[in-house]
Amino acid sequence: MYLSKKTTYTLHLKPQPSWQGTDNSFGISMFRMKTTFPIIPSADYPDLRRHNNCMAHSLTPAIYGKLRDKVTPNNWSLDQCIQTGVDNPGHPFIKTVGMVAGDEESYEVFADIFDPVIKDRHNGYDPKTMKHPTDLDASKITNGMFDEKYVLSSRVRTGRSIRGLSLPPCCSRSERREVERVTVQALAGLKGDLAGRYYSLGDMTEKEQQQLIDEHFLFDKPVSPLLTSAFMARDWPDARGIWHNNEKTFLIWVNEEDHTRVISMEKGGNMKRVFERFCRGLQQVEKLIQERGWEFMWNERLGYILTCPSNLGTGLRAGVHIRLPNLSKDPRFGKILDNMRLQKRGTGGVDSATTGDTFDISNNDRLGKSEVELVQLLVDGVNYLIDCEKKLERGQDIKVPSPITQFRK
Ligand code: ADP
Ligand code: MG
Repeated sequence: MYLSKKTTYTLHLKPQPSWQGTDNSFGISMFRMKTTFPIIPSADYPDLRRHNNCMAHSLTPAIYGKLRDKVTPNNWSLDQCIQTGVDNPGHPFIKTVGMVAGDEESYEVFADIFDPVIKDRHNGYDPKTMKHPTDLDASKITNGMFDEKYVLSSRVRTGRSIRGLSLPPCCSRSERREVERVTVQALAGLKGDLAGRYYSLGDMTEKEQQQLIDEHFLFDKPVSPLLTSAFMARDWPDARGIWHNNEKTFLIWVNEEDHTRVISMEKGGNMKRVFERFCRGLQQVEKLIQERGWEFMWNERLGYILTCPSNLGTGLRAGVHIRLPNLSKDPRFGKILDNMRLQKRGTGGVDSATTGDTFDISNNDRLGKSEVELVQLLVDGVNYLIDCEKKLERGQDIKVPSPITQFRK
């Protein structure tokens, strides 16, 4: 089934560079064949009638026809970008984007579909005309200490991609290993409370891995269809791993969904301190990468370039694990979250269902607002949720706040 789909959509493409000869988890050849019979784009148009993701809402036969035969310099195609959204019509817990980039150039070559998807996903941000701001001055955050009766842990993460190397859906084994080499060498330069070491996934026992997952430090096993349909589980666990400081409060994931994910986290409700460490650590990591002649993918319209369009801009997801036994049973809970641009996940990560009264609540948008603005938005939102929870405890009424319009007039 998978093979036949793959064959259908690769027929019209040029041969791949030799590094992609057998580079997939199925051990089949990914060489592109030229065909002698013409396949008109409409004959290849995916059936999206039951789909509920941003890509499916924006893709039209006209856009597909215009882009189907284009490829990026790494020979990455539109069909490869959208395969995850075709294979995953929806997601049980969040609204997904439904497409990924294979390299930095994907966002330019396939802008006719990426731009409307980005606008849809990021609350009206127009990547054609708008510029994305960066602000990593954590001292600006106010009210960043949460009531620890409700907030169990605080976390801020982003991703960074290394310019010149293909992204995880498209990268060769050698590119993936280069990402690991460059990152791990740079991280060895971290000092003081940030100093730590790298743990390669291939060198860990199953038990060690599971323990790190259970403690919420490590990414999940690559079973999520969002990852596998986007070709990100190929060669697992080759060149994957986690770097962390001794306290496990500053962590870097290598070669999961992005080249790198940079995370600051700790137990309790001190989001301001978590964000301070995040900003300091991230700036040092960037400096260490640059000293070795590499740079992060970035441009002023899209900010930091990451694999999933949902993470463009800041790439920042600031979140808490929070107990909301009363509010979560109130029918207004979902509307309150939507209006405050907050996202709800299970505490086991994006693919987990909620268990009990505890949720992962984080900012929904990443693009068009700075890191400081997004963390403040999360802080204000979480404080509002706690306020509602306390009111409900006392039998008082709560209000649904009016929606944050952001870029939409
Ligand atoms: P990400 O967006 O960073 O990839 P996921 O939803 O995939 O996040 O979760 C990755 C891991 O991070 C999971 O183990 C999850 O439990 C953990 N995690 C996320 N937010 C928090 C938090 N606020 N506190 C503790 N662990 C968290
Ligand atoms: Mg994840």
